Amino acid sequence: MTVCSINKPDMFPEQNQIIDQISESVIREMTRLAEKHQAINLAQGLPDYPCPSLLKAHAQDAIGADENQYSFTYGLKALRDAIAAKLLKRNQLQFEAETEITVTCGVSEGLMATVLALGEPGAEFILLEPCYENYLPAVLLSGATPVPFTLNAPDWHIDFDELAKHFSHRTRAIILNNPMNPTGKVFSTEELREIAMLCQKWDTVALCDEIYEEMVYNEQRHISMASLPGMRSRTVTIMGFSKTYSVTGWRVGYVAAYEALSARIRKVHDYLTVCAPTPLQHACIAALSLPEQYYDDLKRFYYKKCRLFCLGLEYLGFRFAYPEAAYYVMADFRDIFNGNDLKFSDWLLIDKGVAVVPGSSFYFSKKKYSRMVRFCFAKKEETLVAALRRMGRKIFRDHYRHVNKNGLLV
Ligand code: PLP
Repeated sequence: MTVCSINKPDMFPEQNQIIDQISESVIREMTRLAEKHQAINLAQGLPDYPCPSLLKAHAQDAIGADENQYSFTYGLKALRDAIAAKLLKRNQLQFEAETEITVTCGVSEGLMATVLALGEPGAEFILLEPCYENYLPAVLLSGATPVPFTLNAPDWHIDFDELAKHFSHRTRAIILNNPMNPTGKVFSTEELREIAMLCQKWDTVALCDEIYEEMVYNEQRHISMASLPGMRSRTVTIMGFSKTYSVTGWRVGYVAAYEALSARIRKVHDYLTVCAPTPLQHACIAALSLPEQYYDDLKRFYYKKCRLFCLGLEYLGFRFAYPEAAYYVMADFRDIFNGNDLKFSDWLLIDKGVAVVPGSSFYFSKKKYSRMVRFCFAKKEETLVAALRRMGRKIFRDHYRHVNKNGLLV
């Protein structure tokens, strides 16, 4: 006799439910495999160094002061006020803390709440690929249809005539990740303007994930889509604390959108998570009080890692566009390995003890194999050097094994 009804085989008679179209995240799977194989984890975007001690102290103080209960669902008022001040100062965006800013459990939840608030069967979301894995499941779970648009490697430029063909009266939103994971691309002001024009023409929302806003390597400041003329009222800006302050495990982010849209997003957010962790919200207020120097140092910190790691990859024979921002590089391995991205990732993991993400995980239009993998360089320099050394020895040995006397791969 079956006691638990969930064991009944006919509980899941159909394999055409939305959930069956969704796979578990490959990025997070690679972290589990890295642990299993004791590999260096260059797969998931998580630092192996501590967050600023000021943040730790404030989190500990908040727990000690019994700030351990639910906060208002939209987030602590003091944090929303601090976010409103930050948006004005650093992003030239004016949003009301009371009605237009919502604190979420990371950008991930902010994104899910927004897509669920906007999506419905018949609506379409344009996704620029290669893109962060979470976007596709969010769109599918909302019942809407994902419409992929592929950026052109190696410099990840956009063919705007082609992009225009993907917009229609069904387009509810375009999801824009700027700066972009996994490519390290920063959208130029011209590109943002072109996208803004398309959004205005088709009455479409720009759903902007700007989690890497503080890691742009040139002298320029990050430009938020919502700061462009006419875009405040059709943009949802999602930012977070995970990357800027190295607290990926805290799960605090925020969504800024005009009042009517925020009201819809807040309803979903409330039922998804109730609120972000209260003591950590307190510590995030302290994070926003860090001086300008912190952000200058942060850029330099990541730029140095980027140079070190990318020079190493170049030396090993990978081809790639140097990242302009964020802490990833999508690298083409076709000159050093004869096989697809899954085989290459397996080989790196098992033979070399380095975990990476197969490039095809960031594409969904053609779930074809790729000749690229993504490396994350948000690691201590010694970790990066150790990973390069591990890859170096073996790659060169195998490289020569596969190369004929004319220097061509066989
Ligand atoms: N958006 C992008 C583009 C990311 O790369 C990541 C994490 O790697 C996230 C969102 C997740 O952000 P959070 O930790 O705030 O949920």
